Amino acid sequence: MNTVLDLIEAFRRSKVMFAAVKLGVFDRTPITAERLAAELPSDPRATALLLDACVSLQLLHRDEDLYRNSSDADRYLRKNSPETVAGYVLYSNDVLWRLWAHLDDAVVEGSNRWPQAFGTEGPIFSHFFKTEESMRTFLMGLHGLGQLGSPAVVAVHGLATCRHFVDLGGGTGHLALAFLDRYPHAKATVFDLPNVIPLAREMTRGRVECIAGDFFADPLPPADCYAVSRILHDWSEAKIAVLLDKIHAALPENGVLLIGEMLLDGDRRGPVAAFMQSVNMLTCTEGRERTAEEYEALCRRAGFREFRAIRTGNPSDSMLAVK
Ligand code: SAM
Repeated sequence: MNTVLDLIEAFRRSKVMFAAVKLGVFDRTPITAERLAAELPSDPRATALLLDACVSLQLLHRDEDLYRNSSDADRYLRKNSPETVAGYVLYSNDVLWRLWAHLDDAVVEGSNRWPQAFGTEGPIFSHFFKTEESMRTFLMGLHGLGQLGSPAVVAVHGLATCRHFVDLGGGTGHLALAFLDRYPHAKATVFDLPNVIPLAREMTRGRVECIAGDFFADPLPPADCYAVSRILHDWSEAKIAVLLDKIHAALPENGVLLIGEMLLDGDRRGPVAAFMQSVNMLTCTEGRERTAEEYEALCRRAGFREFRAIRTGNPSDSMLAVK
């Protein structure tokens, strides 16, 4: 029963945090409820209620009537903190919340909820990137997660022999930057859709080459190490096969493919975070999360001769396939 009661209110905890981030609470502390209500402006009674709920969640501390960020909130929820994941919270609030509202229909129909929640049709990334603002919200959200997870995705495999690292669908370039931090003498490139490239350039500040293209339709820039981070989980097995065949064909002998994804356990009983991400993929993509065995089968089918999967304990696990 405790599990059931906990899950009945679990979404309320998330939404309290989402609303507080959206209203900029963690950017305005230390502050009183009265002052915050005057600044926003917002209803004073409701504002105090939200702030006290944040105290109960240990996102804020209250001293007399002054509210301050907890250390986690200050580190991860304040928008200008270097380690912020506020972007991913905003994306969860503004986009995922609305898609997840129709999860039951997604299960019945087996498809993402963009048309139902937002009234849009077309390829997946036309939804994510419907406006410049929605594209930034999504990619900056992933950037925050990437800053937490990408260093480990790179670090757990020895990539010292790689000379040119090409991150396919590399977004803001956090993985390419993590690679360069570890291997400063190598070259790194982000290859992504044309409208992402200005943001990739902005975020990588000249350290990474940024090339516009479509990894399904265009030739891949030559490399001895390709990376796909949170890419394969967007797509069906058939589309993954097309992409992996293309990557395998473009690599030299002994070239490698680095894969960053959350791994499901082989017995498909956990971890919870990976299953929640898999359900999330149902609501917004054509894909799902997979086990290491499933990724290995996909890579071996494309011709890769070695495969290794390592759990990082971070938001992204790490796999390496060798040609
Ligand atoms: N790799 C980044 C990360 O780990 O945060 C971004 C992952 S995001 C889920 C998927 C990325 O793939 C986006 O940056 C998107 O623009 C890019 N993408 C989607 N379809 C693509 C295509 N056909 N060709 C190139 N990039 C594509």
